[in-house]
Amino acid sequence: MRTKHWQEQFPYLLLAFFSALLSLFLGWTAYAERINNNFYDLYFRQRGPRPSGHGIVIVAIDDAALARYGALPLNRSLLAQAIRKIQQAQPRLLAVDLLLAEPSTAVADQELAEALAGPRPIVLATALEATGEARWLNPLPEFARHAAALGHAHADPDADGVNRSVLLAKQGGQQRYWALALECFRIFRADSSQPFLETDDALVVPADSPAGNQIPAPRRSQRALLINYAGGNETFPQISLATILNNSAGSQLQGKIVFLGVTAQGAGDRLFTPYSAGIGMAGVEIHANILHTLLTGAYLRPASYAAASLSVLLISILTALALAWFQGRWLILLLAGLGIAVLGVPYGLFRAGIALPAFSLLLPFGTTVLFCGAYQLLLVRRKWTESEGKRERSRRQFEMAAHEIRTPLTAIQGSSEVLRRYNLDDSKREQMIRLIHEESQRLGNLVERFLRVERLSAGEMELQRVPVDLPPLLSGVVERLRPAAERRAIRLACENNGTVAKVLADRELLEFAVSNLLTNAVKYCPSGSSVKLVLERHGKQMQVHVIDNGPGLTPEERRRIFDRFYRTEAAERSDVPGFGLGLSIAREIALHHGGELQVESTPGVGSRFTICLPIATVVNSS
Ligand code: ADP
Repeated sequence: MRTKHWQEQFPYLLLAFFSALLSLFLGWTAYAERINNNFYDLYFRQRGPRPSGHGIVIVAIDDAALARYGALPLNRSLLAQAIRKIQQAQPRLLAVDLLLAEPSTAVADQELAEALAGPRPIVLATALEATGEARWLNPLPEFARHAAALGHAHADPDADGVNRSVLLAKQGGQQRYWALALECFRIFRADSSQPFLETDDALVVPADSPAGNQIPAPRRSQRALLINYAGGNETFPQISLATILNNSAGSQLQGKIVFLGVTAQGAGDRLFTPYSAGIGMAGVEIHANILHTLLTGAYLRPASYAAASLSVLLISILTALALAWFQGRWLILLLAGLGIAVLGVPYGLFRAGIALPAFSLLLPFGTTVLFCGAYQLLLVRRKWTESEGKRERSRRQFEMAAHEIRTPLTAIQGSSEVLRRYNLDDSKREQMIRLIHEESQRLGNLVERFLRVERLSAGEMELQRVPVDLPPLLSGVVERLRPAAERRAIRLACENNGTVAKVLADRELLEFAVSNLLTNAVKYCPSGSSVKLVLERHGKQMQVHVIDNGPGLTPEERRRIFDRFYRTEAAERSDVPGFGLGLSIAREIALHHGGELQVESTPGVGSRFTICLPIATVVNSS
């Protein structure tokens, strides 16, 4: 596990919120709804059929019956006969899923009315006319008179044609009807025609009130109820109408709730359900499924928006934190676990009766992995580039050190070789030995200084501050550089405007900084120029100016001059050796002393580099 500061986790959390918002937005789209529905259907198929007891039997006007008794609409006196036979079998109740709004022959209608008047309660179907506006196709009054209730036989498939819910209440004109299956349920439960108790979120059968079987059908969705299908086609026992008319199935109906309706394939009254694979389910069987849902009380409640939104946020945050805290094998394991949970939990909840939109939960998981993953990739890339830069820089530093070391080494090697080969007189010998000693000392100092500045800039070392008298330090630097300046016919001058002040400084590093500025002036100015080193006091600061009338710098060059390894184009083109490190080191030294290094320059006129240092004690002012 990576330990991280909250600042490092903040971008992950920010991305998590963004992913959650985006997922909520995308979750609203029709596309997401379609995939959510596919998951929902998959859960049904995964769960398999539920026990389909509860005494529901379908008397099916199936293909066999139609083959035998002619096409639809079924001959009304045959229907009357069938209902009479069903009545004789003493079912618990009978629901007729056939519209009986049109008259037939007077004799046949009379016959059917008599059959309907039998002893067992009957629920008849009604429906809104398909084309006209809001006209209910109620059974003829002589039929309706004998019905315990009328229930609407409408189905309300989703946009993809799959019937997942039923509108328990259907309004048409002034009239509102409850669903056929709900009316059956009321009669079964309460054996009364008392109205339902209606709350905003549920319906309650009077016999079950106050707290009993609450049917989760909110008013705002026209009392839509998710149908908890008991299984695919023909999950409920079906008896063909032909068998009933043959007198051979009476005993199977006793005490049962009987649905009478059309199941014949050719009749067209078929709708897709989550279980459907090609062939839809007969409308009458869907009513049976609705009643089964009501009877078992195994409701599927859609999760509230608040719960779904919170889940989205939670998933985003957990995914982002996993990405922020873990890496490698653990991260893969965690993400796999989270992914499985995101897929599995909605299924578990589905089995427990809560319908959560599974794809809407996968979305925040996916988008968070995507965004945080991309962010991590960028971060890794940046770190890689940084470390590449560091490696390159240390390679160059190494080259520079090697270059600087080579000069004194050559002198040492040459002198020792002369000593070894030739028998020199004492004074020559002495001279050679002094040279070796001085050069090796210089070499040692060089390595030491290089390492010190490196450690200093890495924050691994403190300055070794001592009170430093600036004038002698500066004239020392000037004198050391004079031979090099003279070789290039450059006039070197050192001016002190009279102030003698001490600063608290690391002598060696300060010397290096000043020497670097002066070396640069000598290196980059053309022969015949003049270079001045001026010391002056400015308020509480001592200022060391190195002024030349060399090539000068453009504003862009001035801006970049203190970057490590930066050299002007002119310097790169010239054969003046350099690595573009001196000024950056000199500036760092000035900053570590609580001062700064400034530059003023005009191309073609010259440059002025100034080291400003805070004064420690003023020894003498004249
Ligand atoms: P180096 O001299 O090794 O290249 P520096 O960091 O000391 O590295 O200088 C960086 C660059 O600044 C030099 O390469 C040169 O282009 C430019 N520069 C420094 N001093 C002067 C100067 N006095 N006049 C003109 N250009 C300068």
